[in-house]
Amino acid sequence: MNFEMEEVSCPLCEKSRGEPLYPEGSFQMVRCPSCQFIFLNPRPTIESLHHFYQKYLPEEEPSIESWEKMMKPIFHRAANLLEQDRRNGRLLDVGTGFGFFLVEMKKRGWEAAGVEISQKAMDYARDVLELTIFAGPLEKVDLPDNHFDAVTAFYVIEHLSHPMAFLKECHRILKPGGLLLLRYPHTTPIKNFLHFFGIKNRLYDLPAHLSDFSPKMIQQCLERIGFGKCQHSIGGYTLPTDLGKRTSSILFGGLAEALIYLSGGKLLFPGVSKTVLAFKGN
Ligand SMILES: [Zn+2]
Repeated sequence: MNFEMEEVSCPLCEKSRGEPLYPEGSFQMVRCPSCQFIFLNPRPTIESLHHFYQKYLPEEEPSIESWEKMMKPIFHRAANLLEQDRRNGRLLDVGTGFGFFLVEMKKRGWEAAGVEISQKAMDYARDVLELTIFAGPLEKVDLPDNHFDAVTAFYVIEHLSHPMAFLKECHRILKPGGLLLLRYPHTTPIKNFLHFFGIKNRLYDLPAHLSDFSPKMIQQCLERIGFGKCQHSIGGYTLPTDLGKRTSSILFGGLAEALIYLSGGKLLFPGVSKTVLAFKGN
């Protein structure tokens, strides 16, 4: 696929166009010398990304099923994490895809709706699973202030051109005391590790991913917007059907969990997906 590309300033601080970090194919990840944020530059324009996401999710039934299987442990853990704080309420899942997380939450007694930009995924969620889905992006849905008890977004923030605008919007639509749960990949430590051994890879998944957040960076952004307490966790590994990917997912995911357990929950193993739970202050 051909992308229309644009050169941008750092999406967080706008002070720099970034210094080259790791290339992947014809794409270049850069690091902002001012705030250390890692982002893709140049990057595809919003229009060409929107076009790209119409084809991003699998379309055939068997692939949709294996996608559900892959995400199931993540959704299960996330639901349990939310329910440590509250048993039910009104939830919005942004970038909901086919809507399987909404199904899980409705089963648990939540009033759940989703936001999605892929027309095919939206059709499936509405027609097959009979879910309430708003056509994204979130900023265009026009939801009321202080409306949701929980907002979730699994593997969304790394795809966004304007992550701060997205977080602000999540904050606005949450009730005071409401919860934001984000899940995102943190790839740079693995890139550093593989680079050290000269192992070529495309783990940044460019140009789909526009940035690579660390837990520290995500916390800074959340605090800047006004979120209160943040709680970070690893929260389960995905189960890709591909055997090689599955092994590395379980290996990195499982090792990470063992380490977090042994360190009394304090150590976040670098380089695997992370979950952050942030509270909107009263
Ligand atoms: Zn910056």
